[in-house]
Amino acid sequence: MKVTVFGVGYVGLVQAAVLADFGHDVVCVDVDSDKINDLKNGIIPIYEPGLTSIVERNYGEGRLGFTTDAVEGVRHAEIQFIAVGTPPDEDGAADLKYVLAVASTIATHMTSKKIIVDKSTVPVGTADKVLSQVSEVLATRGEAIEHYVVSNPEFLKEGAAVNDCMRPDRIIIGTASEYVKAQMRELYAPCNRNHDRMIFMDVRSAELTKYAANCMLATKISFMNEISRLAEYLGADIENVRRGIGSDERIGYHFIYAGCGYGGSCFPKDVQALVHTANSINYDAQLLKSVEAVNYRQKEVLFDRISRYFAGDLSGKTIALWGLSFKPKTDDMREATSRVLMESLWEQGAKVRAYDPEAMEETQRIYGCREDLELVGTKESALQGADALVICTEWKAFWAPDFDQIKGALRQPVIFDGRNLYDPQQVERHGLAYYGIGRGRSV
Ligand code: NAD
Repeated sequence: MKVTVFGVGYVGLVQAAVLADFGHDVVCVDVDSDKINDLKNGIIPIYEPGLTSIVERNYGEGRLGFTTDAVEGVRHAEIQFIAVGTPPDEDGAADLKYVLAVASTIATHMTSKKIIVDKSTVPVGTADKVLSQVSEVLATRGEAIEHYVVSNPEFLKEGAAVNDCMRPDRIIIGTASEYVKAQMRELYAPCNRNHDRMIFMDVRSAELTKYAANCMLATKISFMNEISRLAEYLGADIENVRRGIGSDERIGYHFIYAGCGYGGSCFPKDVQALVHTANSINYDAQLLKSVEAVNYRQKEVLFDRISRYFAGDLSGKTIALWGLSFKPKTDDMREATSRVLMESLWEQGAKVRAYDPEAMEETQRIYGCREDLELVGTKESALQGADALVICTEWKAFWAPDFDQIKGALRQPVIFDGRNLYDPQQVERHGLAYYGIGRGRSV
């Protein structure tokens, strides 16, 4: 089938590459000409495991194209994906200006039937807005061209996006049209060989499903973080508690790690956006507001602890940071806890010496060159002469370090472990002080 994808970000590019890999003929459109030029030259603008090879293969074999020419994109296919960003606006609502701009573009240039597929995460009611935007533009053109708007939210996880798109847990399709259902079934047929992953529903339920999924995951994290604070004050170890509750099938082991807060482009903004949606219908979303508040507080835990450890005097101290991205296997720094920590440390006159396997270029892009940030090429070189080591992201490269080497390199033998990677007793046996999250001790 022919497909056009608007937006070559984490979602659009992966989706387009995977659809091309299934054999579809895909054209990607983006307003960012640098990204499009890079892609044409084989440079992938994001780090995502496995993505480079499928983009290269499908581009090379002519099934995947890149353009800034929206007219070409609209003409190319009946199926038009919208996969552009929906960042939060000042009051937390999802900003739909990019989504509606693409809807306008499609309506302006369409000359034949279109199925507009909304992949971006958008509030309930957006499909109706897209539909009326398209109808309005067509009306001003004096045209009546058949068109549909379908909600098809994306559930991929950054760091595992290619696999998630190839083998999704489920494919949610929100539409009332039998024609659209059949087209979507054909498009996604390669995902359904093993078993049927398609779940059809009304468009509003599909839109809400995406928010419900992310808010549920964020809730699990904030819940564990809340318990971790209690564990700290009560002398319990959250890692024992995690194992204890995870063994209950109704709870399970997935997604119940305590840590220094969730980040990324999705959980923070999607929780906020659903709170905003609730407000708009005069519903007080108490639980969701608490999920957000707990996370906000949790992102400050590392700094508070480091500050207390150094008796509030961080001026002139150098803090080694392992991990900058909001989670492992991505270069994405959006809402990363490392940013909250670094900015607080800088405010108090401390220097940061950081290492991350993939996110250093992005960190440099965000903060530019500054005297109090040094990005180094190995995790070992981050330690030399630093006053403390902080773990912000649980990259595998940090899971089994040489603790004697850490002790030898640090000026003050102390680890603040924001991801509970290490066994406190083991670390302490090497002569290092250890502060994890909810491990029964606090500074
Ligand atoms: P992103 O910021 O990485 O990419 C968005 C892209 O859209 C950019 O390249 C931008 O230049 C492009 N764009 C903006 N306006 C455009 C226009 N008018 N025409 C063409 N391109 C345009 O965003 P993302 O992380 O891929 O997220 C996209 C959507 O998917 C968001 O709604 C997000 O909430 C949702 N989502 C994201 C993830 C994730 O893990 N990143 C997962 C599931 C869903």
